[in-house]
Amino acid sequence: MGYLEKQTDPTTPMHWRGDMQADYFYPSGIAGDKFFKHIMENDTFLATKCSKCNKVLFPPRMYCEDCFEEIIESDWIEVPSSGTIKLYTIATLNAHGKKLENPKVVAFIDIDNTDGALLGIINTNDFSKDFLGTKVKAIFKSKGSREGTLKDILYWE
Ligand SMILES: [Zn+2]
Repeated sequence: MGYLEKQTDPTTPMHWRGDMQADYFYPSGIAGDKFFKHIMENDTFLATKCSKCNKVLFPPRMYCEDCFEEIIESDWIEVPSSGTIKLYTIATLNAHGKKLENPKVVAFIDIDNTDGALLGIINTNDFSKDFLGTKVKAIFKSKGSREGTLKDILYWE
């Protein structure tokens, strides 16, 4: 069955084997660009504080996600690259379903002094520990080898 043939039997699954080219370019935007340039040179993060409702947006935004107030230059603040584990899971498979050689603790980390959070890998071999509420800090690559992406954070500990 090809693309132009009409399927008349709804119980017959339609599929084609083959490769489909799918290229994506996802720009990080003005706020994301500033955030990533900052972590190339600093061991801290940038956030934006809404001047109307005082919410500290992390990752930084150009508009408040709650009250839609525009963020201006003076609303940008520096925050520590540390936080508290809010949720976590232990991953034993990679994104392709293959078993990982070593399990990974993937955590949702509430970033200190903000109302936002970030996903991170926790550097540990203790998989029986309860990580909820644990304080962690980001460990970055050395400054000369950073590329301005989240991969500049090696792990959290
Ligand atoms: Zn606001």
